[in-house]
Amino acid sequence: LALLLDGKKLAAVINDGIKKDLAELRKSSGRRPVLACVSIGQDPSCHLYCRTQARAAQELGIEYKLIQCPADIQEHELADRISGFNADDGIDAVMIQHPLPQGLCRETVMEFLSPRKDVEGMHPESLGKVLLGVSRIAPCTAQACFEILKHHDIKLYGREAVVVGHSNVVGKPLALMLLREMATTTVCHIATSEAHHLQEHVQRADILVVAVGKPNVIKGSWVKEGAVVIDVGINRVGESVVGDVEFEEASRRASAITPVPGGVGPVTVAVLMRNVVELFRSGIMR
Ligand code: NAP
Repeated sequence: LALLLDGKKLAAVINDGIKKDLAELRKSSGRRPVLACVSIGQDPSCHLYCRTQARAAQELGIEYKLIQCPADIQEHELADRISGFNADDGIDAVMIQHPLPQGLCRETVMEFLSPRKDVEGMHPESLGKVLLGVSRIAPCTAQACFEILKHHDIKLYGREAVVVGHSNVVGKPLALMLLREMATTTVCHIATSEAHHLQEHVQRADILVVAVGKPNVIKGSWVKEGAVVIDVGINRVGESVVGDVEFEEASRRASAITPVPGGVGPVTVAVLMRNVVELFRSGIMR
């Protein structure tokens, strides 16, 4: 049976590092970091993320400020509010909670934010640095997947990596990170499925990362013997939460696999908090 890649354990390791760094930074700056979270509208998944982030921040000694905006906020009003945060020395890091209400474009909204406060790594400058391989703050979920692989010493050089899902927030940046490590990287998306080629790509994968958001989109029987599987998907099915991969069958074939929940999710939150500390540190040094 596959080794379980336990995200809670890795998150605890990252959090230990954060606590050490924060103790020093608080001594030198005399204050604690502040993360502002902008939540627009009333999406229930947004509320859940905010609660999880607020708890994680509190446990680490990071101040969490929730800024609630109405769903019908105009783009220029949001731009004004975000420039206020950019100019506010009492705020170190800003995140814009997703999904955004209809009528607001994520890419446009991210450009309102200063890259110096972009804790999610979603500003075009931050994404450009991921492309160039010089990033300090990368999109948190993509970074979390990458760190799970690194933490478990999973060899990437020369291996077949297949990423299913090409969103700007997970699939694309992760593919760039895998490429930088010289994995032979294939990116699949809806057109791959529609052309009936998804199975053949998945079957070749030594490293398989799935970030789609559809339960069981990857059949367990497609997983190559000995593959490493990172399942990013979070899907509510009845009372339970499942990933995108048929877990039981996949874990009989894979050498290692992330559980859902308890895999990528906790590492993503830890990476987000570490990004807050990183922005706090560079703010102090400026
Ligand atoms: P997203 O923006 O909706 O992207 C989903 C991607 O999957 C798109 O690129 C889409 O391709 C592709 N896709 C859809 N159906 C497909 C199919 N049948 N075959 C192949 N590809 C298909 O979602 P996301 O933000 O990247 O998130 C993906 C999943 O990860 C969601 O379940 C989300 O909840 C979860 N997530 C988890 C964490 C965590 O911390 N664990 C963080 C972020 C997201 P097209 O664009 O071409 O349609």
